[in-house]
Amino acid sequence: MSRTPEVWERRIEARWESAAGRHACRAPLWETPGAPPHFFLGRRHAGAGSAEREAAEVSDVARRTLGGGLRAARLRQEHGVALRRVRAGDADLSPAGDGLSTDDPDLALGVQSADCLPILLADRRRGAVAAVHAGWRGSAAGIVLRALEHLAAEYGSAAADLDAVLGPAVGGCCYEVGDDVRQAVARGPLAPLADFDPGGCGRLRLDLARLNAAALLQAGVAPGRVQIVAACTRCSVERLHSYRAEGSQAGRNWSLIAAPRVR
Ligand SMILES: [Zn+2]
Repeated sequence: MSRTPEVWERRIEARWESAAGRHACRAPLWETPGAPPHFFLGRRHAGAGSAEREAAEVSDVARRTLGGGLRAARLRQEHGVALRRVRAGDADLSPAGDGLSTDDPDLALGVQSADCLPILLADRRRGAVAAVHAGWRGSAAGIVLRALEHLAAEYGSAAADLDAVLGPAVGGCCYEVGDDVRQAVARGPLAPLADFDPGGCGRLRLDLARLNAAALLQAGVAPGRVQIVAACTRCSVERLHSYRAEGSQAGRNWSLIAAPRVR
């Protein structure tokens, strides 16, 4: 099912630009009036910061890329399926979990990754957005479906109301996985959508973006409102941080989104 043309047609080639001194790209879906401000940010053009420094700078980067008055929330990610609703006035803007949501246009949401898939969701009419961190564990556990449930419960957003953009992640070209991953996905809610293309060489590969996009489409997000930014972190290591390419020294890419201002 995940091989249907519908999913492949959602892929767009990343068009690289510069934002806050970093390699950056955006989704054409959200280059229109009323769309949520967003950016997928990779490496700095010069020099590499430590993961700690990257984290400390997220508020600054959000202000420089998305808008002046913004605060920023980030996650203490734990490869689970918990989503947290946050507002700019919250005391804790770095809660534990793997997804953030807000309808507060004064707050940017940030997810960091270095091969895992960032998923950004927006309900333009209600002005609600979410940022989700989906690695293989979160994907296997169906975090993308939990995100849809969360948006419905917190903001009244139906799947048909949503835009979804899937950002740079390790691609099916490079993401060789073990049987433990295949089994975890097979036990989870996305099992019917999974396609571990062995590539004719007996090796399991997983395309996180394709799997999660297929889940979004099946859950009722309109095909024309799903976009996959086709940039494999490992293939594009000159622009993006990649755990598979760099190991534990890898920095982190930032995916940022803020709620659109609605009247
Ligand atoms: Zn690749």
